[in-house]
Amino acid sequence: MIELNDPSLLKTQLFINGEWVNSNSGDTFPVYCPATNECFVNVANGGKSETEYAINCAHSAMPLWQQATAKQRANILKHWYRLIVENTQDLARILTVEQGKPLHEASAEVTYGADYIEWFAEEAKRLYGDIIPSNNPSQRILTLKQPVGVVAAITPWNFPIAMITRKVAPALAAGCAVVVKPAEATPLSAFALAELARRAGLPKGLFSVVVGTDVAQIGHELSTNKIVKKLSFTGSTPVGKLLLKSTADTVKKVSMELGGNAPFIVFEDADIELAVEGAMASKFRNAGQTCVCANRLIIHSAIAQEFTQRLVTKVKGLTIGNGLDENVSIGPLINEKAVENMQGLVNDALALNATLETGGSTVDLKGNYFSPTVLSNVSPEMRVFKEEIFGPIAPILTFDTDEQAIELANATEAGLASYIFTQSHRRIWQVSEKLENGIVGVNEGVISSEVAPFGGVKASGLGREGSKYGLDDYTELKYICVGNIEE
Ligand code: ADP
Repeated sequence: MIELNDPSLLKTQLFINGEWVNSNSGDTFPVYCPATNECFVNVANGGKSETEYAINCAHSAMPLWQQATAKQRANILKHWYRLIVENTQDLARILTVEQGKPLHEASAEVTYGADYIEWFAEEAKRLYGDIIPSNNPSQRILTLKQPVGVVAAITPWNFPIAMITRKVAPALAAGCAVVVKPAEATPLSAFALAELARRAGLPKGLFSVVVGTDVAQIGHELSTNKIVKKLSFTGSTPVGKLLLKSTADTVKKVSMELGGNAPFIVFEDADIELAVEGAMASKFRNAGQTCVCANRLIIHSAIAQEFTQRLVTKVKGLTIGNGLDENVSIGPLINEKAVENMQGLVNDALALNATLETGGSTVDLKGNYFSPTVLSNVSPEMRVFKEEIFGPIAPILTFDTDEQAIELANATEAGLASYIFTQSHRRIWQVSEKLENGIVGVNEGVISSEVAPFGGVKASGLGREGSKYGLDDYTELKYICVGNIEE
């Protein structure tokens, strides 16, 4: 068990219609601690019937919420925000135990996740429509934004708090009700968020959390139930494609935040130290398990050696271990399969003549650890180039011309984040515009913020989260034509 200031934040039941409930079957499933591979707690194992019930409750709860003023909705969201901030320490501990990231990163995620709630509480009051000049003098044309309807959200384990608040906050702000299915590896953070929403006075049924081991069954209900009007998913590209297909029959709106394969380009005129720091932050945060992680370090050949040396020195300085230990800078991976995958990626690269600069193996600790790794002499036929690594491996390849760098960067179906390091204004504009990505970090390795639109192009997804655009994904635009107003 972990020490919490408020132990009642550690919930193990489903949260449906404002109540904590067991699964209908009474079944439970274990939540493991990635740092030790031990079962931490057992939680209720929900399925289709619980999901269907949560959707029906959302449907019943929505009309009153939709009719509330934006200010009333905003006040409850702000209250929820404050409770999350007040409970940061406990939420961070719960997050670290089930997810593995170091406590300081978990705490940063709590803040980051809460910031979406604050942002959308404010934006709720700015859901403006337009008055459009008509071609007909006796008509007036108006638009209004209305809530899209009941929302289903399916979220991943890598950011167990922020990926939920990013969806739930705009949905609630717009006047929708939401059913969330968090990842089965990290349900506890979702439950704690729900408990704080309940304490903030969010009316029952507007935010339910259903989780279970039969994810396909829950996912099928969420993506095919007629009541659900919008599905918002963050996760892997294959599951995203599957869900897109299953939403087709009921023509739901969708938001998809799928996999990335971020290029991280360092030009010969870059501030190398800044670039190395950016690479460390982008690559090794959450042990490389973020969809905006630098996946391919594309470095100009004139500075590649210096960049590699400096990066390797920093990587060797990382302290690996249990995230609950304050001194740890990099935690475990989510499960054993992820560790095996890292080893497979390294072995593939080495077989194709990559050079191992540091790391490259498992670590002699009890949990799911893989040593922070740097590979040089990487080439495009290697898996580390083609696949989303989702772990602490930094593959370095080199280029000589800007065109080569852009071509390498765009040689992937993914198009979420990208990074460029240069001091040239010409390059900042020219390269940013040519990169096929939804996000470009320029001389910056950390780009996520609630004020900015997060999302990808190509196979990385549909829609944007956060920013003034983030509410649009949860609203329908209605056009009203008022005619014959002249006597
Ligand atoms: P990852 O490989 O990073 O775990 P997934 O796409 O498998 O990514 O998981 C993201 C979310 O999608 C999780 O909540 C997971 O339970 C859920 N999920 C996985 N498979 C399905 C499915 N067939 N239908 C619906 N949800 C799914």
